[in-house]
Amino acid sequence: MDDNCIFCKIARGEIPSATLYEDEDLRVILDLGPASKGHALVIPKSHAANLFELPDETAQKAIVAAKKVGTRLKEGLHADGLNLVQNNGATAGQTVDHFHIHLIPRYENDTVNVKWQPGVLGEADKEEVLKLFL
Ligand code: 5GP
Ligand code: ZN
Repeated sequence: MDDNCIFCKIARGEIPSATLYEDEDLRVILDLGPASKGHALVIPKSHAANLFELPDETAQKAIVAAKKVGTRLKEGLHADGLNLVQNNGATAGQTVDHFHIHLIPRYENDTVNVKWQPGVLGEADKEEVLKLFL
């Protein structure tokens, strides 16, 4: 628990939230600034700032919850698709430093933007990255 962390307080129920699912390890809530109808956040109850700090066991539980709630959202809201988004670091768009997974239901012709301009995989980059996993 980080005393200054808003998601710690929300996850533990100290600050009220629109909760879709809760168990002893995590809470899934509606995002206050939704990208689309049903935009939700999977928030572990124990504090980890980002993916790099997240214990494996919590990672497993978070993805299972994302699957469970994401399926219900997609079916119940008749969404056409669902994006999972998970930001790490300010450069990657993270604004709250407590690990969370976004569940963003997608609807035909919505205005959500999670696209990028595709590049071309260059030889030098490919070799550099592959070397990390030798
Ligand atoms: P990030 O940019 O860190 O990946 O996502 C943070 C998300 O948390 C944003 O989508 C933002 O709208 C949401 N958010 C920030 N503060 C609150 C809050 O107090 N309550 C809820 N429900 N969502 C919040
Ligand atoms: Zn926290």
